[in-house]
Amino acid sequence: LKRAKSSKTFELYAVGALDTARRRFSLETDLRRALNRGELVLHYQPLVDLECGSLSGFEALARWDHPDLGPISPVDFIPVAEESGLIVPLGRWALEEAAKTIARWDSRSGGQKDFRVSVNMSAVQMQRDDVVDAVASALKGANVDGNRITIELTESAFINDPAGTKTLLDALKGLDTNLAMDDFGTGYSNLAYLQQLPIDVLKIDRSFVSEMLVNKDKRAIVRTVLSLARALGMKTTAEGIETIEISQLLRRLGCSVGQGYYYARPLSEDAAYAFLAADIAASTS
Ligand code: C2E
Ligand code: MG
Ligand code: MG
Ligand code: MG
Repeated sequence: LKRAKSSKTFELYAVGALDTARRRFSLETDLRRALNRGELVLHYQPLVDLECGSLSGFEALARWDHPDLGPISPVDFIPVAEESGLIVPLGRWALEEAAKTIARWDSRSGGQKDFRVSVNMSAVQMQRDDVVDAVASALKGANVDGNRITIELTESAFINDPAGTKTLLDALKGLDTNLAMDDFGTGYSNLAYLQQLPIDVLKIDRSFVSEMLVNKDKRAIVRTVLSLARALGMKTTAEGIETIEISQLLRRLGCSVGQGYYYARPLSEDAAYAFLAADIAASTS
């Protein structure tokens, strides 16, 4: 590992296979320890209703501040967690933590806002028999209704076992949770199959959203996803909104919810609560 001069975080350089293996092994060891010691935290990025401009919820995103290496991006540690199986306890922890946060914020705010929190679920977690139990026990442990949680799934989870996926999603809907298809448009999507799944939200990938003003092909893809969602009776969330112009265009095109640095970056728990409190104050004044 070498510290990149231009950046606060570490960049990982592959210097050869042995080095790669060693790096993976130590990240894996360190990640296991971090999980056991409670060194991971969730940050919360606001999701904004594009129609009325008010807060609709947050996406919970895992953060790891390594004691020696500093902040490590989930883009680097989630794949390590998936390959080592650590994603199972990590995912369980994220569900429990998100549910507890909802309960805490409800009691701090007197339950004045019916916000939702989205939690990412890896394809590896979905292959486990106990994933529905994990969701149910996180909800029960925090005494939170399923409809306060949105589970973000990726298309890759659907390819291997279409029938099993449908059964699983039906069971998650049985807990009253909301289901979102994350990074939509980047993977393999069988539309006939998609239409049979109880998906509530399509999340349009950042790679289309961020360039939709300057690239007409990406804009066409965004429009297509929006009309597909309308046809299937699903809502839409656009991720990676960095400018007011893109937020206005998406609103005109009928996208339901927006997420991106234009509104807010992922925030620490306290900063996210302040965002929620400000939204409540704005709507009651
Ligand atoms: P994702 O689920 O697609 O999450 C959205 C990512 O886009 C987040 O990156 C967020 O910080 C970033 N983002 C949001 N708005 C903007 C924007 O306007 N500009 C730019 N440049 N980026 C924006 P993050 O936090 O680095 O997470 C990366 C990925 O790691 C996530 O992508 C998700 O796939 C995975 N991940 C994070 N936490 C968890 C977790 O608890 N469990 C699982 N299974 N995966 C997780
Ligand atoms: Mg996500
Ligand atoms: Mg996403
Ligand atoms: Mg993404």
